[in-house]
Amino acid sequence: MFKRVLIANRGEIAVRVIRACRELGIETVAVFSEPDRDALHARMADQSVCIGPGPNGESYLVDSNVLMAAQITGADAIHPGYGYFAENAAFVEACEHLGLIFIGPSSKTIEQMGEKVVARRTASEVGVPVPPGTPDPISDEGEATQEAERLGYPILVKAAAGGGGRGIRRVETAAELGPALATAQSEALASFGNGDVYLEKLLSQPRHVEVQIMADRHGNVQHMFERECSVQNLRHQKLIEEAPCATISERVRQKMGADAVKIAKAANYLGAGTIEFLVDRESKHYFIEMNTRIQVEHPVTEEFLGHDVVREQICVAAGEKLSFTTEKLNRSGHAIEARVTSEDPDRDFAPSCGMVTEWIQPGGFGVRVDTYVHAGYALTPFYDPLIAKVIVHAENREKAIVRLRRALDEFHIGGVKTNIPLLLRIIDSDDYQSGNWTTETLGLFFMVEAVVAGAG
Ligand code: ADP
Ligand code: ADP
Ligand code: MG
Repeated sequence: MFKRVLIANRGEIAVRVIRACRELGIETVAVFSEPDRDALHARMADQSVCIGPGPNGESYLVDSNVLMAAQITGADAIHPGYGYFAENAAFVEACEHLGLIFIGPSSKTIEQMGEKVVARRTASEVGVPVPPGTPDPISDEGEATQEAERLGYPILVKAAAGGGGRGIRRVETAAELGPALATAQSEALASFGNGDVYLEKLLSQPRHVEVQIMADRHGNVQHMFERECSVQNLRHQKLIEEAPCATISERVRQKMGADAVKIAKAANYLGAGTIEFLVDRESKHYFIEMNTRIQVEHPVTEEFLGHDVVREQICVAAGEKLSFTTEKLNRSGHAIEARVTSEDPDRDFAPSCGMVTEWIQPGGFGVRVDTYVHAGYALTPFYDPLIAKVIVHAENREKAIVRLRRALDEFHIGGVKTNIPLLLRIIDSDDYQSGNWTTETLGLFFMVEAVVAGAG
């Protein structure tokens, strides 16, 4: 097992990883930016190293600073969390050169699966369906027009290196294609340093269902069942996730699990990863992408299965064999996660920053809160607005929804605005409660509101 792990991240995920390390008897090293000096992850770790000023580009995203912190403190491994370096093949290669173990797959796997066009090809080659689309990135507008005609509108322009919902543009007609191409390309270049985009047929009212994968260095690949993540905002960002997915049959579940394992094997996978699918109204599933890292919503899998995903991820990186097989996992009840963000629903979800004056978080039976925020902590504009994840577990979906409502009601956050009112409206809606929810439902919610507001 590792002696000392550096966590190249901040916020709730850094805290989550420190907790797993502590239970494994591993020493931890945190890196932090100047405004994060008193942040929980920096306080909790055995050692903490300042790596620069607030902006990500001057601290958390400076590879040499992070790698130097690892060397100075004698860390033998780096956990990347999600975002930042988690899917950065060049960073993983640098770790490999320095003899540091990157807790994740190899740089080669990240390169292969991080490019969505290549990932789609990998899936197709092992017989897993993908939405119709272009086999390669688009070179010019003429080619795009031709390909879009072939696929048939509506289509999506998608960044090949995309993530976090950025670099995706919906196109309904030929007239919109040129401008959409240009904005998607520039957004992709700015966000991912790679302006490649491709076209994908837009599936109508799909559900987002993803499969958690775990693989060790001994050739074992197992899945940990699925998560339903169809509650997404207009920017395709997930807001509420659950396990299991209440609307697929056991037959579809088994098929998706088997397909996810096939793709992971084809990618020579190591560690924790997620295979994302869209499921259409005929219950057909299509591979859309692989996330080669721990995912924000991993706790719903943990609560549903009673199995620590981050611990398993660290153990397999250290060379241990998988501690479970899919068949032996104990599926129990229903888990739901709600992402609480410091975004103001009344100001078009603009980030809400400043001192958190009050923080009373929910608790009690079946409630878990993954966070790094507390009263007296100042939220700066530099970082992701995710401030807490409220995860509940109950014997069935209905009871889990009641528990989530109770937990979100208990949450009192003063000084900054949050999206809790929106989360409550979603879980109170008939559509959510009946499970009649697709990736487009929340967008329709907003549209109806705009119309009503306009009429009033
Ligand atoms: P998840 O399914 O784990 O929620 P998301 O796509 O929502 O995944 O991304 C999780 C976090 O990682 C977000 O904060 C997002 O901004 C960030 N992220 C995702 N992909 C990338 C990427 N390719 N580059 C940089 N940050 C990313
Ligand atoms: P990201 O890397 O940003 O997470 P994804 O490819 O995973 O991008 O897509 C994010 C979301 O966009 C999906 O969960 C889904 O809601 C929507 N989406 C992506 N591709 C399609 C498609 N072909 N048809 C319909 N919706 C899609
Ligand atoms: Mg995705």
